[in-house]
Amino acid sequence: MASRHSIGADQETFLAELIDAGLLIETGAPGLYGRGPVFEQVRLGLDAYLARTTSSERAESLRFPPVLPRRQIEMSGYLKSFPHLAGTVFAFAGGNREARKQGEAIGRGEDWSVHQRMTEVALAPAACYPVYPAIAARGRLPEDGVTVDTGGACVFRHEPSRDPSRLLAFHMRELVRIGGAEAVNRWRDEWQERAPDLLRELGLDARLAVANDPFFGRAGQILARRQRTQEMKLEILVRIAGREPTAIASLNRHGDHFAATFGIEMPDGTVAHSACVGFGEERIALALLRAHGLDPGRWPSQVRKEIGLN
Ligand code: ATP
Ligand code: ZN
Repeated sequence: MASRHSIGADQETFLAELIDAGLLIETGAPGLYGRGPVFEQVRLGLDAYLARTTSSERAESLRFPPVLPRRQIEMSGYLKSFPHLAGTVFAFAGGNREARKQGEAIGRGEDWSVHQRMTEVALAPAACYPVYPAIAARGRLPEDGVTVDTGGACVFRHEPSRDPSRLLAFHMRELVRIGGAEAVNRWRDEWQERAPDLLRELGLDARLAVANDPFFGRAGQILARRQRTQEMKLEILVRIAGREPTAIASLNRHGDHFAATFGIEMPDGTVAHSACVGFGEERIALALLRAHGLDPGRWPSQVRKEIGLN
């Protein structure tokens, strides 16, 4: 599918600069880059900054692999809303004969997908997805619910692009709040102030805006409009490259969608609500490189100090 995102000379130039400087490493596939030592130092420093500045949440740290049981992504509704972004995992299924045929087809540069079968796992599309079934499995929530910190989790979205801000695989650090409707909505309202402030502390000109997810197809347009009217999704925007600002973080209210789907209940048996705040680590690192220059050694000392580069 053609990308809904236009890409211009500014993004191409920025990508070339990042590769020249050894910050990103080309792999040959658009949207897939290795990370050089300086880029990674910035990303990990930022990850530690976010962990430190959000520690007052006393969130429970849960970590999950970059793949999840396929059943979970099927149940979540992701494949209906974002069939164009989901990544599934296939693996070889066959015996000696099929293995030989597959090898021959690859040697001839032919299609070899016939020898592959869908596995039980899919690629995680966001850091929070594995959290809901894990919390549901514990039984009913405590009265004040739960807050989970996913750490910087590697996620996948099939949206190949030459825009260095639009990656196929990237790290998303999320805080996930699950509990009563009122507590969850209050939590997200608090984060409307806190999240942009955390990013402004790093010298980024961050602003908050109502947003929508990139829902698929015509039915998706209706979902997107509803999401905007109800202010379910807010994004923190910064200029990175190109004319349009880029979302470096988002704040999402899910109502009871995930809790009802996976069976997360309050102590009295009513369905819980959920919300999440997600920070895109590579995008924030790119925003910093754009705002302060490609050499972090010359960044403002306050920013260097916050992300532990001193
Ligand atoms: P966009 O509107 O730019 O496609 P999104 O609304 O799909 O982003 P979310 O689902 O809210 O993004 O994901 C949380 C955060 O993850 C985003 O705010 C962004 O920082 C980051 N992110 C999302 N997609 C990508 C991507 N393809 N490459 C790098 N970072 C991304
Ligand atoms: Zn989330």
